[in-house]
Amino acid sequence: MENLTNINVIKDIFERHGFSFSKTLGQNFLINPSVCPKIAEMGNAAEGWGVLEIGTGVGVLTHELAKRADKVVAVEIDERLIPILEETLADHDNVTVINEDVMKADLAAIIEEHFKGLKVAVCANLPYYITSPIIMMLLESRLPIESITVMVQKEAGKRLCAEMGSRDTGAVTAAVRYYAEPKLLFNVSRGSFMPAPNVDSCVIRLDVNKEPAVAVSDEAFYFRVVRGAFSQRRKNLCNSLSSAMGIPKNVVTEAVKAAGVSENARPEQLQLTDLAAVAEELKRVSEN
Ligand code: SAM
Repeated sequence: MENLTNINVIKDIFERHGFSFSKTLGQNFLINPSVCPKIAEMGNAAEGWGVLEIGTGVGVLTHELAKRADKVVAVEIDERLIPILEETLADHDNVTVINEDVMKADLAAIIEEHFKGLKVAVCANLPYYITSPIIMMLLESRLPIESITVMVQKEAGKRLCAEMGSRDTGAVTAAVRYYAEPKLLFNVSRGSFMPAPNVDSCVIRLDVNKEPAVAVSDEAFYFRVVRGAFSQRRKNLCNSLSSAMGIPKNVVTEAVKAAGVSENARPEQLQLTDLAAVAEELKRVSEN
C-alpha cells in the first residue's frame, strides 16, 4: 500500500483495527515520506539482496524495501500489527512477516531459509529502548550479513560512529569497530515520526568486516578489557581497568606499559590496536 506516511491513512487503519501505540515497544512510526526510500536505497535493498527488517510498524519501510530487494523478511514483536500488515503489504509477494521478538528469533535459520543465494542486509527503524543490544546481537552472532542500516537516536548514532581516539568514543564504539566500519548517513528530525519522540534521530550504516578489525587471542577477554577501559571514560585507563576488572593497579600499569601505551592515557585516546595490545598483555599477566 502506498501513502503509509499519510497521517489520515494511518489513522483510518488504526481505527479499523482498534490499534493504539505502545510506548514500551518504542513505537514511533515514520511519517516523513522522504526517509524510507533513502534508507532502502542506502541500505542495499536492491536486486540480488535479501533484507531483514526489524520492527515493521504499519509496514512503511517494509514497502520500500520490498519494491527494491528480491526478498524481505520482517520480524515484528507486536501481534496487533500482523492483521494490519496483511492489509498494507498485500501488494508484495516477496515479503514474509514473522511475529517474534528479534532477540529470541533464530536469525541464522531465517536467513538460511529465506535468503538462499542472496546477499543479506539488515534495514530498520529500531525501537530505541533496545538499540545497542540489537546491534551487538547482530554483530556478535556472526550472521552472514553484509550491512546493517538503522535509524537510531542521534546521541547513540554519534557514539556508534565515533572515530576511535575522539571525545565521543565509548565501549560501544570500540565494540562496533571491531566488527564493522560505521558511517553516519543522514539526520532525521523528531517531527518525522508519529508520535514525535523527545529526541532527534539519525540513520547509520555498519558495513560488516570480513575479519575483525584487530586480531586478539581471546575475544571474551578483549571485550572485558574494552568494557573495563571505558567504565570511566574521562579517567585514567589504568585506574578504570584496575577497578573494573579487579586487578591490582601496579599489575595493570605494567601490562599497559608493556603494550606500548602510556600509563597516563585516558581510554578515549586509544586506538583499537592499543586496546588489543593491552588485552593481550593483561591476559598474559593475569594467567601467570
Ligand atoms: N518500521 C516502522 C516505521 O519506521 O514506522 C516502525 C518503527 S518503530 C520505531 C519500532 C518497531 O519495532 C515497532 O513496530 C515495534 O513494535 C517493534 N519492536 C519493538 N521491540 C521489538 C522486538 N524486540 N522485536 C521485534 N520488533 C520489535
